[in-house]
Amino acid sequence: MHNAPEHVRVLVIGSGPSGWTASLYLSRAMLHPTVLAGDQIGGQLMLTTEIENFPGTLDGTQGPALMMRMREQAEKFGTRVIESIVTRVDFSARPFTVWASIAGEEKAFTADAVLISTGAQSILTGANGEQELIGRGVSTCAVCDAPFYRGKNVIVVGGGDSAMEDTLALTKYADEITIVHRRDSFRASKIMQERVLTHPKVRVRWNSAVKEVRGANGVIDSVLIENTQTATVEEMKTQGMFVAIGHRPASDIFKDQILLDEKGYIVTGFALGEASLALAQTRLKNGFVTFPTMTSIEGVFASGDVVDFRYRQASTAAGFGTMASLDIERWLDAQE
Ligand code: NAP
Repeated sequence: MHNAPEHVRVLVIGSGPSGWTASLYLSRAMLHPTVLAGDQIGGQLMLTTEIENFPGTLDGTQGPALMMRMREQAEKFGTRVIESIVTRVDFSARPFTVWASIAGEEKAFTADAVLISTGAQSILTGANGEQELIGRGVSTCAVCDAPFYRGKNVIVVGGGDSAMEDTLALTKYADEITIVHRRDSFRASKIMQERVLTHPKVRVRWNSAVKEVRGANGVIDSVLIENTQTATVEEMKTQGMFVAIGHRPASDIFKDQILLDEKGYIVTGFALGEASLALAQTRLKNGFVTFPTMTSIEGVFASGDVVDFRYRQASTAAGFGTMASLDIERWLDAQE
């Protein structure tokens, strides 16, 4: 027999910078948020070491410590945190229903408003040894880690705008950057390509794929690179590997419920890009656009990297959470 769902005012799904910041604001607005924290509490920052680009972290703060403090701050003002994994949602009627697995038991919640801040994950190449060396020379965030590669030789994997941006970020510190790309042309915008291809520190290995990442004394030492046309394999010494082949937003369980773009990012009123122009216009007519963080379902909001494919920084995710919490507060007020 199933227990009756528990009703809460606001459910926050996800526990990265966006979810914690939104929860802090929602708590201080006396909306008593409940956070369904997910299987990687703290999100992507739990995989990083030192943080230098979150305002106020001048003292060598580590990613996991920063996330713990964000959680404590939200809890101090009344946020309730449930260690749980959301398994399915029903946004077709209000209040919304969300099911979560808590220590192996499924429990249903109903909520007046839901915030989705489930984040995104970097896509990895899947090369042998890559996973084990994350944070030990393998990085998915050049903006964060480039300063640690001063005077070193590194590789960047990918051929899109992210790979170009990462390469340019690295040129400020590293001695030599080799881009490893699986085809013979880049997907990135022409202007970014030109900046990269004319830079004296940059070389490109076209038609190439990383097959294996090798470590020595626990840190990266070399990569095995396969030529995708001739299948020849070569070992290349390197002191860092930046993977920039895209991100996967954690939106699978919402896909039949709210509008996602073709890559799975949640479309909100904030994303007035081409993909959502028609929706934005409809919304404008209906007045919804006054809630920029609202999704295609009124009362369901989204913030952070599950929406934002462009900036993807802890500070932008946190600010996005602030916006969502203020939108939720205003929207709930308008319902009364
Ligand atoms: P992307 O545009 O999807 O490019 C991914 C790149 O990685 C492609 O070159 C792809 O190769 C390669 N790739 C994919 N899977 C791979 C695999 N398994 N092994 C090796 N290589 C693989 O992703 P993105 O660069 O992260 O950009 C995402 C979006 O954000 C884009 O719309 C981009 O324009 C935008 N963005 C904009 C800026 C900016 O304007 N400043 C900066 C960053 C990102 P193929 O080309 O062969 O498919």
